[in-house]
Amino acid sequence: MPVTKASVWNVLEPRNIELGPSGVASGSFSHWRLAKDAEGIAWLLLDRANDSANTLSEAVMAELDAALNDIEGMGAKGVVIRSAKKSGFIAGADIRDFKDVKEAHEVETRMTRAHAIVDRLARLAIPSVAVIHGHCLGGGLELALACRYRIAVGDAKLGFPEVMLGIHPGLGGTFRLPALIDPMEAMTMMLTGKTVDAKKAKALGLVDAVVEERHVENAVRAAIGDTLRTDRGNWKAGLLGFAPARQLAARQMRTQAEKRVPKKHYPAPYRLIDLWEEHGGDAKAMQRAEIRSFSELLVSETAQNLIRVFFLREKLKSHGKGDSGVRRVHVIGAGTMGGEIAAWCASRGMVVTLSDLDPQAIAKAIGRASEFYDERLHSRIERRDALDRLIPDFAGAGVASADLVIEAVAEKAEVKHRVFEATVPKTKEGAILATNTSSIPLEELRKGLKTPEKLIGLHFFNPVSRMELVEVVGHDKTSAETLARGRAFCGAIDRLPAPVGSAPGFLVNRCLTPYLVEAFVMLDEGMAKETIDRAAEDFGMPMGPIELADRVGLDIGLEVAKMLKESLEDPMPDIPAWLVKKVESGETGRKAGKGLYAYDSKGKPQKAEDAPAPDSEMADRLILPMLNTCVRCLREGVVEDEETLDGAMIFATGFAPFRGGPIHYARSRGTGAIVQKLTQLAQKHGARFAPDKGWEALGAEGSGEKVGETT
Ligand code: NAD
Repeated sequence: MPVTKASVWNVLEPRNIELGPSGVASGSFSHWRLAKDAEGIAWLLLDRANDSANTLSEAVMAELDAALNDIEGMGAKGVVIRSAKKSGFIAGADIRDFKDVKEAHEVETRMTRAHAIVDRLARLAIPSVAVIHGHCLGGGLELALACRYRIAVGDAKLGFPEVMLGIHPGLGGTFRLPALIDPMEAMTMMLTGKTVDAKKAKALGLVDAVVEERHVENAVRAAIGDTLRTDRGNWKAGLLGFAPARQLAARQMRTQAEKRVPKKHYPAPYRLIDLWEEHGGDAKAMQRAEIRSFSELLVSETAQNLIRVFFLREKLKSHGKGDSGVRRVHVIGAGTMGGEIAAWCASRGMVVTLSDLDPQAIAKAIGRASEFYDERLHSRIERRDALDRLIPDFAGAGVASADLVIEAVAEKAEVKHRVFEATVPKTKEGAILATNTSSIPLEELRKGLKTPEKLIGLHFFNPVSRMELVEVVGHDKTSAETLARGRAFCGAIDRLPAPVGSAPGFLVNRCLTPYLVEAFVMLDEGMAKETIDRAAEDFGMPMGPIELADRVGLDIGLEVAKMLKESLEDPMPDIPAWLVKKVESGETGRKAGKGLYAYDSKGKPQKAEDAPAPDSEMADRLILPMLNTCVRCLREGVVEDEETLDGAMIFATGFAPFRGGPIHYARSRGTGAIVQKLTQLAQKHGARFAPDKGWEALGAEGSGEKVGETT
């Protein structure tokens, strides 16, 4: 059957596409569909088999090679590459192919083959056009860059997110992008991993036209007839062809990169700057160097750990599948957490009512939400819609129509009980009741409820917009259905659910507390707070424990630490009296302008510049007790498996992502070596370091033995 225009233009409805032989070879591809239309234009559609999104695998690339053969033999006057998936153009390389690769030379061989195919596309004698909708990332953008023209449709998002995986573009992006647009803009895109929308892409010259779907036909015809007006070329490309100019620019780029990530933990951006400084403007040399550098980076520990983090996120996401049935949310308590939870849910499409005893708290929360939307939502319409969905509810009327009620009032069991007593009779049948408690056992909170099976913990982290994790907590009477709906709700609002048991402090706070408390012990020993923070930052934590304690709030940290000390057998040092005094005097941390650090008006801690450098043991003193508690939580079944634990600690606390998570780090360093170090630390500093017997299950010997008190 010949290809009809309607079928081609209606490409976003894959089932409507009828790309038949049309008198030319259409190939027997699994992932691509190829046909020539009545005007002699070849249409090559990517529709990766058995996946909802297009990614580039070796099989997809091999078929592209075969399709290029067919195209060369079909006498077409031009070729259009586009996606048959609604989800977008091409989301990048198939990251599954990157996992567990160990030999750089094997990667180099694979990449050299893939480059030859992309080069072939770039060298086609006929005009080639990439028509881009949705995500066009990494390898997908590299394919588009090899086409003569790029036309963006609607919601196109283009970018090179490779640095997030500890690599840089590897399929020609490092030389094709700086050759096409302002090299400085090109480097910024590749160094930051930020995507650009269609409008920005047009302004940069990355795409030649932005059109609506119904105008694609005309734009393609113009491109293939070489009459599409393009706006390319940049005077900076000429200037930066000179090595001294590049050296200067590269120096600035390194300074910028250092502000974002340290070289020793995240080498990829620095390697990319080196490549460009050395070979910028010489495409052939850059290509050879790109392949080598990409291959070396891909097999590095950092990249492999960041790839692991990618899959940890996927695993957590998979817990959040399904329909929660939640469309309307009522949040009680418009303080730090309630306000943020409400604002976030409304930004993700939920209709949210927000109530509080104190009307001022509601007003302030709406004000903060409005600022947040201004910062984070792109269009005026999105901002207006989000604000429309966030409804101040002074009388608490929203409870009656809510599918989910979340309480985020003060961390006191009796206050929460009172809130439940007043709220539950008004909820509609089937509504879920959730608590954001950080520490109160759910078995305690469910007492007195007529439908305890509907109560769960949805423990968000602060700030909700940055910390993607939500601990989903059950108790002895929660129903499996409520838990599944709670997890699906997290998925629906783009947060990552981690199922955890109802143990004191759940998972994350329990593991974080020994890290914070050890920092307080170090302060007591006279170490400078800046030195302590630096030890953790050098390990790769996003901020040190002293700054983190201030950020969380010393009052909240103190409550959690007290509760954990009382309710658990985990060995923990005494809570210092000065900390209690500080909280009593109102010096509760960043929110009060003063805590362990003093804060300037922008909330920046005032740190001494001349603090001594940390010694080699400090990081272990901070990190190993956290690891020990992670192992204890695994043993006690607070969390089901190592991946969920590693993901939870990364996405709730920012645990050094390039280390792949606490348990993965312990395994990489050697669980035996960690037990040995803990034993030494226990002999030197006290039984709080005694290795947990859970280490045995991770293959370490000698764990769980009696270790002497402080020597
Ligand atoms: P907050 O003090 O900032 O806010 C609590 C709000 O609840 C206040 O606005 C208060 O007026 C309101 N409130 C108190 N009693 C009420 C009642 N009976 N009815 C309606 N409103 C009432 O506290 P927060 O830091 O937002 O913490 C709230 C909950 O979230 C606590 O359970 C806390 O443990 C938990 N949590 C806090 C954090 C954090 O970092 N702050 C993180 C995770 C979880």
